[in-house]
Amino acid sequence: MTAPQTSWIASANDGQTHFPLQNLPYGVFLTKGQSPRVGVAIGDQVLDLAALDEAGLLPAAAKGTFAAASLNRFIELGKPVWSETRKRLTALLSGEDAALRDNAALRDKALVPMSAAALHLPVEIPGYTDFYSSKEHATNVGRMFRDPDNALLPNWLEIPIGYNGRASSVVVSGTPLHRPNGQIKLPNEARPVFSACRKLDFELEMGFIVGKESALGEPISTADAPAHMFGMVLLNDWSARDIQQWEYVPLGPFNSKGFGTSISPWVVTMEALEPFRRDNPEQSPQPLSYLQQQAKNAYDIALEVALQPQGAAAPSTICRTNFKAMYWTMAQQLAHHTVSGCNVRVGDLMGSGTISGTTPDSYGSLLEMTRNGAEPVTLADGSRRGFLEDGDDVIMTGFCQGEGYRVGFGSVSGKILPAR
Ligand code: CA
Repeated sequence: MTAPQTSWIASANDGQTHFPLQNLPYGVFLTKGQSPRVGVAIGDQVLDLAALDEAGLLPAAAKGTFAAASLNRFIELGKPVWSETRKRLTALLSGEDAALRDNAALRDKALVPMSAAALHLPVEIPGYTDFYSSKEHATNVGRMFRDPDNALLPNWLEIPIGYNGRASSVVVSGTPLHRPNGQIKLPNEARPVFSACRKLDFELEMGFIVGKESALGEPISTADAPAHMFGMVLLNDWSARDIQQWEYVPLGPFNSKGFGTSISPWVVTMEALEPFRRDNPEQSPQPLSYLQQQAKNAYDIALEVALQPQGAAAPSTICRTNFKAMYWTMAQQLAHHTVSGCNVRVGDLMGSGTISGTTPDSYGSLLEMTRNGAEPVTLADGSRRGFLEDGDDVIMTGFCQGEGYRVGFGSVSGKILPAR
């Protein structure tokens, strides 16, 4: 039997919405006078799972996990419960089971217009790791800052390079961030100055949320890795390039990244993304055996970045690219992360690394697009940007194109406030 394709909620069926019946992403939302609870996005509505649970319409195994300020308790229940809940929601929202559709009082209680819901950080994040898995991005950065002829460092083709980031400063879309202050080393000065960042940038990334913990000392294989993933979000890894360039030797970025990372509020489940799995990119040399993979672990996700200056009438799209081009897959990242015996926890966030294509209009950062500020991009209102200015709003979106429907991520946005 094929799954139903349409919902009795009309806005879910227009072919353009990011949230049709095929998606059903999870988030945490608040309405006036209510405590936070878990919801699912459907068309232009949020379905209150705590209300459905109270009415006895969700799987007994998930009982009590939705009246919560994060998805963690639900995620901890494991894959069979995620699948069972998805099946129940599909039946209820398609009308195959009429218990919600035909109950006006429950519909009033459980369906909230998205415009009336404040969306929260969906997951309590114990740890955040950021990878560096786009060959185009690593090559572009290597060309600019090291050696144009040997842009990739020798380890890059062998290791999904990553570093441990800060979970404390991961924020939900819509949270403004202050321009960071820090040490900047100007080219002709002996010592650094303390200053507001002058080269503030975004990085277009996606992140996956760990859905199943592993024990200390126990590696996760590439074959098992997908079973440890709950879902994916859009991620903006804000970067202070001038602070980064001075501080990153020899241990990697620190304050240049730790001041904030933004994620989208809806977690799109791996189950919803299943139809969009694609062949893995070719890898040469063949990776060491613990990094080899049999399953298709690439995903076809169209991505865009737009920039809207303070007061501008509309955002200008400055980047279009696709997640499927990433050299190292999420399964390889997780296998590499844990091969030493490092454990992962439910809710851990793993950033993909900046997602860049092969042409300037598909580069996932201003650093690459403008060649370190030397060739500014022109926006729709005529203004130019080498790096971000105060008041700029950066908006990233992404979706998978199905036949007549889209499984979308909504957006992640964030505005730059002046330095403190
Ligand atoms: Ca990054």
